[in-house]
Parts: sequence; C-alpha cells; structure tokens
Amino acid sequence: MPNTLMKAALLTKPQRVEFREIPRPEPGPGQVRVQMNRVSICGSDVHLYKGDWEKRAPFPIRPGHEGMGYIDALGEGVTHLDLGQRVVIEPNFPCGHCRYCWRGQGNICPNKRITGVNEPGCFAEYSVLPAKFAWPLPEQIRDEDAVLVEPTTVGWHALQTATLRAGDTIAVIGLGAIGLLLTHTALAVGYKVLVNDRFPEKMSLAEQWGAIAIQLDTEKQVIPQLAAQLESADVVSVFECGGTVNTATMALEAAPAGAKVIIVGLAHEPVSFIPFDITRRGLSILTSIVCSHPADFSRIIELIAKGTIQPGKVISRRCQFAQLPEALARAAGGTETKIVLALA
Ligand SMILES: [Zn+2]
Ligand SMILES: [Zn+2]
Repeated sequence: MPNTLMKAALLTKPQRVEFREIPRPEPGPGQVRVQMNRVSICGSDVHLYKGDWEKRAPFPIRPGHEGMGYIDALGEGVTHLDLGQRVVIEPNFPCGHCRYCWRGQGNICPNKRITGVNEPGCFAEYSVLPAKFAWPLPEQIRDEDAVLVEPTTVGWHALQTATLRAGDTIAVIGLGAIGLLLTHTALAVGYKVLVNDRFPEKMSLAEQWGAIAIQLDTEKQVIPQLAAQLESADVVSVFECGGTVNTATMALEAAPAGAKVIIVGLAHEPVSFIPFDITRRGLSILTSIVCSHPADFSRIIELIAKGTIQPGKVISRRCQFAQLPEALARAAGGTETKIVLALA
C-alpha cells in the first residue's frame, strides 16, 4: 500500500523555501500525530531562514515550533489523549535523565530535542511528537492564543528568572514578540513595565496595554537618557529582548545600581562590559532560554484559560501555509510583531 503523503516546507539553503510531498509520519510508542492547524513564525525560524545557525542546524531543515492542531493518531501506550483533541505543542524535549534535568534545568539539557531545529518542524500538514509534549487545550482558549503559548512561556520563564517581588517595576528593551509577550504577561500579573524599541508602533502597542514608553532622543547619546529614566522609575530588573549588541549594551550600561539584567535575546556577536563598572553598580547578569517543562506550559495555559492574558494580541499578520516564503521574508524585515499561518 503506498504511503499517504503530506505537504511539508523545507529550507534548502539560506532564504530558500521548498514545498515537498513527503510520507506522512506514523507515531511510534508513546507518541502522537498532530494535524497542524496554526503555526506561527518565531525569531529563531528567521535565524534558520537566514542561515545564521547553519553549523548547528544544517540545511535542509523543516522549521517551525510554535504550533497547535488536532490529535490525528495515537501511538502505542498513549491513553491520556483522544483522537480529535485540540492541543498545543511544547517544542523542546529535555531528556529527563541527565544532571541538568535532575536539577530542574531541562531548558539547558544537552540532549534536548527541539522541534524545528533537530527534529522535523511544524511547517508540515502533520507532526509527530512525544505525547507528554502535546498539551490539551481548554475549550475557552481561542486558536490564536493557543498558537502563541510557546513564545509566551519564554517571556514568562524570563520573568521567573528575575525573582521579582509584588509591586516591582521592570524594563523591557526590545519589543519583538518575546519582549511584547513578556510585557503583556508582566502587566497582567501586576508589575509596572517600562518599554523601549526602535519602532514607535511597537511601543504604542505596549502602551495600549498599560506599559510606559521610554522615549529617547536618538540625536543625542541614548544611554544616559535611558539610565535616568530607569533610575527615576525605580526599575529593579531590565530584560534584554532585542537580541542585538546594541540592545544588550543599552541594558547593561543603563541598568540602575543593584538591578538584575536578564539576557533573553540571542545576539550572535560579543558584547563587552567592564567588570569594575558592573560590580561597583552591583548588577546581576542572568540569562533565560526557552522554558521549564512542564511548569511553564501548564501555568500559561491556565492564565489564558482564566482570561488573565491574551497572547493573540501580538499577531500582526495572518497568512496561508502556501505563503510561507513571503511570510518568512517579511518576518526577517523586523517590523512584524507576529505572523501566524493557517495550515488547515
Ligand atoms: Zn519560538
Ligand atoms: Zn537532560
């Protein structure tokens, strides 16, 4: 009997997307197959598209890790999920048995499998994954909030890294999807949030939710202006979400004395700091990557279900699967906040 085929998108070289008909995968023991319904484009998909991570994730590669859909086949031994059930995919699979996993740091597990990086991604009609990483969605959650659970957990994880106290004021530098979702979530749970981005439209969006925009006169030196505003607002944590040398430098040089600087953005070039300068100011530099399994997915799904947060607010464009090449090119331009593709 011939294999059933499915349509999948492959990056074959930098900035080249090809659609192929490939055999539809079958779920093995403990796995499920999900018929993808919506998949959004992440900053990391853009890095893959541009070839920035070619050494780590060589071409050809099937990207996509922010996906939701419906369970379409159950592997042997999967009893807690049902056919037709609506789920969101948790895309990072820590091994569960290394020293980092044992310490609760599965987010940096060296054996971690990552959907869309070293496992086939969600830009295909069907995706197979371990059943415990397919999270059932409560009925009241809209598809457009569900598809953004994963990037929301990334912002949430960064917030937890800062170990804030009730009533604290924080600053977010760089309002890509992660910076915006971190801002939205922080505001929703009661923190005061200052934001800065080079695009005024992104700051306006955050202002609509209740954030305070930091206006900088770029004709003059920006660091002293930023430092003065963070200091007078009593900011205790600065989140670097821009992923550039410039935003990382801004965060480190403008953070008030005693603050934590949480590096969330993934800049590729070196950023320098003077040890005496940061020790004298008593800064703490922390990092945050992806999220903790299973706590962060569980909490974000709960916060959406309760109506506390609506991640879908960051969506700036909706496309069909066939438009993935244009959508990736557009995402690489940097002006979109989040593009979501409909696959079914
Ligand atoms: Zn992502
Ligand atoms: Zn591990």
